[in-house]
Amino acid sequence: MATTSQPRPRVLILGGGLSGTLAAAALAPHSDSIDIVERHPLPDAAKPRRGLPQARHAHMLWSGGADAIESLLPGTMDMWLRAGAHRVPIPNGMISLSPGGWYRRCWPEAQYLISASRDLVDWAVRTQALAIPGVRLLSEAEPVRLLGTRTRVTGAAIRHRDGTVEAREADLVIDATGRSSHAPGWLTELGMPAVAETVVDAGVTYASRRYKAPVDTTGWPVINVQADARLAVAGTAGTILPIEGGEWMVSLSGTRGGEPTSDGTQFTAFARQMRSPLIADYLARAEPLGPVTVARNTANRRRHYEKARVDGFIALGDSATALNPLYGHGMSAAAQGARALRDLAANSDITSKGFARRAQRAIARPAAAAWLLAVGQDAAFLHEAGKKPKLADRLAARYVNRLITTACSDFTAVEALTDVMTLQASGVVLAHPRILLAAIRGPRLAPLSGPALTSAEEAVLLGRPVPTPTP
Ligand SMILES: Cc1cc2nc3c(=O)[nH]c(=O)nc-3n(C[C@H](O)[C@H](O)[C@H](O)COP(=O)(O)OP(=O)(O)OC[C@H]3O[C@@H](n4cnc5c(N)ncnc54)[C@H](O)[C@@H]3O)c2cc1C
Repeated sequence: MATTSQPRPRVLILGGGLSGTLAAAALAPHSDSIDIVERHPLPDAAKPRRGLPQARHAHMLWSGGADAIESLLPGTMDMWLRAGAHRVPIPNGMISLSPGGWYRRCWPEAQYLISASRDLVDWAVRTQALAIPGVRLLSEAEPVRLLGTRTRVTGAAIRHRDGTVEAREADLVIDATGRSSHAPGWLTELGMPAVAETVVDAGVTYASRRYKAPVDTTGWPVINVQADARLAVAGTAGTILPIEGGEWMVSLSGTRGGEPTSDGTQFTAFARQMRSPLIADYLARAEPLGPVTVARNTANRRRHYEKARVDGFIALGDSATALNPLYGHGMSAAAQGARALRDLAANSDITSKGFARRAQRAIARPAAAAWLLAVGQDAAFLHEAGKKPKLADRLAARYVNRLITTACSDFTAVEALTDVMTLQASGVVLAHPRILLAAIRGPRLAPLSGPALTSAEEAVLLGRPVPTPTP
């Protein structure tokens, strides 16, 4: 740690989204000069903004990510819930059709997720981070290149709103500019070797729309119909998230050959041809609030900064590891990465030689766990791009499918899968003898013939008055 006699390190964060603001929280104990450079204006409310187009799609924040954010910025959870976000228990608060069938809902809570608009998630984090003394926002400014040598980054050239370009020196530069990051090119311009990159693209297209929910969304479940990669058709999937303001955020998706479009008249029809028409049936009872928005840039893309030998520079969040959004891990992996950065910084001098590389390795760990989950499942869809999954991937997929089928009626299996899916446990737990045994034993009960609905959920579906809950 820096001693009081030394000047305190200056930190420059590129990108003021979720990762950028969390990085500020992670490094705040070590610096009283943290500048966040953000290209677009950031609203001081939970409102849509430029620079975050993905906020128009459903964003699940799993407990692994929510807990990491709360530990970096205590009080954020309370802000979310007071602003109308829902804390949904899992698995019991989800109506979910997995490739192995409908999950039962009689189990106790194993984990939870935060169900809210992405604008609300980011607003609370941003408000908290920007209130930290020493953290400053350079709004409507952008980096044009990095400064430094072939082994150390020493700052960035920043273009301000008025067009002037300033060379800003820093002891540590964090790149949090997301999927479209230019950092790989900027590093090679300094003479560094190219950063290795891995891309796995299942060709997923998203189409999303907000609805006025036909029911009070308090206590309302997340509804989720998943694709089954074993079927010889493109994988189509959908989710209804109850968000703040009595709305549903609905996202539908399809892999190559089965993509949804932005045509509003086709939205419900697309949901109806999925493995279950349940989402379409609910949408028929709800009022659309706007147009359909489409997203196509969904490939898993990993930039292996942890292998690069560079000091003074760290990449966090999507700029380092961007994930297929289907599994909802991007925000959680970024938050766990920021927490890992904070924990490492607690016992290190953040300006020391090798710190950035160690930090990048620590950040890569949770991202790699999410990467393996996404790529493992996406491998099954790669045949649509003319690629064949490897034998190991096929065997792993068979095991996971067996486990998912078991989990529809076995709490041991559903608890383990839930812990892994929420990034509260690594995938290694799925190889624990107890879980292997459960998978060998298989399902304990016959599969459900349809979703397990409460009387209120059934009433909404049938357009009947919703019974008032008994106290
Ligand atoms: C359709 C879709 C659905 C998704 N669903 C989920 C989900 O359910 N759960 C989940 O956890 N994740 C989900 N994700 C992933 C999630 O959106 C990302 O993982 C997350 O936004 C990463 O945060 P970030 O801060 O790293 O990047 P971003 O959120 O992209 O933020 C980057 C920031 O940098 C700024 N910026 C960019 N370039 C510059 C520049 N040159 N100069 C200055 N500023 C710049 C941008 O304006 C922005 O503020 C989804 C993504 C998509 C596309």
